[in-house]
This record gives sequence, structure tokens and C-alpha cells, in this order.
Amino acid sequence: MDENSLEVVTAIRAIKVASALCQKIREELVGGDSLLKSDRSPVTIADFGSQAIICKLIREKFPDDPVVAEEDSQELRKPERSGILEKVTHYVNQFIPGTSPEEVCTWIDMSSHALKDRFWTLDPIDGTKGFLRGDQYAIALALVENGRVRLGVMACPNLYIERSDPSGKRGCFFIGLEGRGSVQIDLQKGTRRTLTVSKVGNPSEAILTESVESDHSDHLCHERLARHLGISGPSIKMDSQAKYGIVARGEVALYLRVPSPSEPGYKEKIWDHAAGSIIAEEAGGKVTDTLGRPLDFSSGVKMIKNHGVLVTSGILHDVVLEALRHVGCKGAV
Ligand code: AMP
Ligand code: MG
Repeated sequence: MDENSLEVVTAIRAIKVASALCQKIREELVGGDSLLKSDRSPVTIADFGSQAIICKLIREKFPDDPVVAEEDSQELRKPERSGILEKVTHYVNQFIPGTSPEEVCTWIDMSSHALKDRFWTLDPIDGTKGFLRGDQYAIALALVENGRVRLGVMACPNLYIERSDPSGKRGCFFIGLEGRGSVQIDLQKGTRRTLTVSKVGNPSEAILTESVESDHSDHLCHERLARHLGISGPSIKMDSQAKYGIVARGEVALYLRVPSPSEPGYKEKIWDHAAGSIIAEEAGGKVTDTLGRPLDFSSGVKMIKNHGVLVTSGILHDVVLEALRHVGCKGAV
């Protein structure tokens, strides 16, 4: 597979259209403080719209490939949700004219949770809480074959493009293609950049990223680990798989996701890691769980064989695994 293959071209198109839809919904429906007081319908609309568009565009080119995605249309089909369905249809129509409410539901339901040897996995909006706050979110799509991620395409419509200009232009997407590296492309201008992870060899100089939400991972454990490694700088708290993007760009050397004790038994979902992981790996990074095992993309929607996630620039991976053993955070098991 190369960048001109139908898989890559189709995934990029789908991600770009969905990203434009999500940005439009944010701009038009979501205004400052009122957002958190709302009934979360803007998120629902964006989630459904993004999934409908991506499933349709992928399945029209690859009718035999399952798309394993987060949403289904069950809620949307209820009579009391007709207003939401109307809004989803209104937005989808701006990108795929002539779409009916029935088609929106049908496209959303092209998703299945039955994995085959080859399947796509999609998070139509990863980092919902970031989307609501006006922070980071991602639209993440990956192609998995025989348990290995072959392609990841991820849009981060609100992520700054240049590290040197964090308040400058925002909006980019990432492509990680097995054996061919990772690139970042500016959503507006199309400018592209090949990505390489951080070369920091001394763990004390590493910068760490983690979730904003403290119940998505064990922040206290992360703090103990950072102290053990001699890291004195603050962590970068960021929503969504955008964290994999900033590892791939070399801005941070560590992304830690030790399971949170607040939700024992939680298992990571494949659509929260497939796209991001290949983007970080193809930029030279290493991705395993917190015990050093490869991520499990073949058991089902839940990564039942894994315990948390560890992403590093590669050189630091063994040192951090050893430090994790030393600080002895158990997290949820
Ligand atoms: P992040 O923005 O990195 O915190 O990740 C957002 C994702 O965390 C969401 O898409 C959820 O699927 C996932 N999530 C929800 N609850 C948990 C949990 N207890 N532990 C880990 N991830 C979670
Ligand atoms: Mg998610």
C-alpha cells in the first residue's frame, strides 16, 4: 500500500469531509459557556454526522470491509430524537447533497462490531470532552489486517500546526502508513511535513503527555513515574489521540495511560488507539501496553489482552517500562 492506493486516498477524503463537518458544527451550534449547559446534542450531531459520512465513503469503495465504529443509529431512530436526526441530516447534506434521514441512519449502521481479518476502525469524534470544551479532538480512522494496523489517518481540526507557533494556525491531519513513515498535512494549505519522534535520550529531559480527564488514566501514578525518572517539567494534558500526534511530531517523548483506579476493569477500545499508534510508530516511536505487550487489535472492540498504554519515542521505552515496574502502579485490573 502506498499513498496513491485506493485505501489511503479514500481514507483521506473521508477524514477531511468529516473534519469539515465537525468544525462547522462547532462553529455554528456551539457557543462558549452555553455549551456545557446544553444537552450535549451538538456532540451527538457531530458524532453521528462524522460516522455516517466516513462509513458511506469507505463502504462505497470497499463494500466487503467492516467498519468497526463507536456509534449506531438506535437512539437516533427514536421518534423523540427526530429533531437531532433532522440536524444531522442538515449537516451531512452540506457535504453529500441529497442525503435523506433514512440514508444517514443506514450509513451509521454500516458499522459493525464483528471483526474480520481485514477491517477499518473509526472513532468519529475522539475526545468528546475536548470537543465540548473547545480543546482537542480527533477523527480517527485505521485499517487493520491480521491484527496489525496498516494505515492510520487522523484529523485534528483544532491542533496547532507548528510547535513554534502554538497560538497560530490550527487544523491538520496525520497519515501513518506501514513501512512508509508518518506525515502531517495542513488541513487548509495542504503543506506537508514528514514526522520524526524526539531524540531526547535522557529520560529526565522528556516531556510527558496524558489525558485531560483524570478518570481516563492514573495521573497520580504518572506523577510518581515522572518523579522517578527525574522529569521536573509539567505534563501536557491533551484530549484525544492528538497525543499520539505530538509524540510523532517529536514535541513530547512520552504518552502515559496507566489505567485509572476510578474505573476498575475498563478496557481500552481499538478505535481509541489504532490510528494514533501507527502514526507514532511510523515516526519512529514505540507503542505497547504498560507491561510492554503489543496492543491487541484482534480480540474484539475491547483490547482485553492489554493493561493501559505506553507510547514513547522508542529510545526511552525500556527505561520507562522498568520505571513503571519500579513505581508499581497497578491501575485497574
Ligand atoms: P482521552 O481524550 O485521551 O482521555 O481519551 C478519550 C477516550 O477515553 C474516549 O474516547 C473514551 O473511549 C476513553 N475512555 C472512557 N473512559 C475511560 C477510562 N476509564 N479509561 C480509559 N479511557 C477511557
Ligand atoms: Mg474515543
